[in-house]
Amino acid sequence: MPNSSFVLPVTELLRNPQVPQYRECVFEIPESWETEYASYLAESVGADVSLTASDGGILASVSLPLQWTAQCSRCATDFVDTLEVSLNEYYTTEAKVVNALSEGDEEASEWPTHDGFQIDLEPRLREEAILALPLLPLCDSDCEGLCPDCGFPYEELEADHSHEEIDPRFAKLQMLFKGNKDGQE
Ligand SMILES: [Zn+2]
Ligand SMILES: [Zn+2]
Repeated sequence: MPNSSFVLPVTELLRNPQVPQYRECVFEIPESWETEYASYLAESVGADVSLTASDGGILASVSLPLQWTAQCSRCATDFVDTLEVSLNEYYTTEAKVVNALSEGDEEASEWPTHDGFQIDLEPRLREEAILALPLLPLCDSDCEGLCPDCGFPYEELEADHSHEEIDPRFAKLQMLFKGNKDGQE
């Protein structure tokens, strides 16, 4: 039996199926939720969970706000963003999965289940969290990236920034000089 903050007891809910449960949970976000480029800022995150018993199964609705950080794929700046993981999932009984499998429904092996005592929200929430992250992280959807000549982010450069007729090896120096001059005016 998994032992984590995502595992919630459900015996009481199943005993009184007419009474839905609302809980404020604190989930410990494991490292396995991180992707190659994105990591989460907080280890413990509060989430709203509602559990409704229905026909032996349990409908779980979760909303989990996550702050994540990544390096912009265009300008290489580290940035922080937020996403809201929302899950609406029906957890059926293991007996119903066995039944469906015996009737030839192969997809039934993928159905999330509860065992009558506990429900583990972690696997489906992890899937939703990873799906919610962009494939190419951007600090801003308009990020213009880096100047190919001097390697500075366009964000930090002047609008008319260019390198015409200048040896690229001296571009950085020239820009620093320009920056000083502008500062004095
Ligand atoms: Zn960027
Ligand atoms: Zn440049």
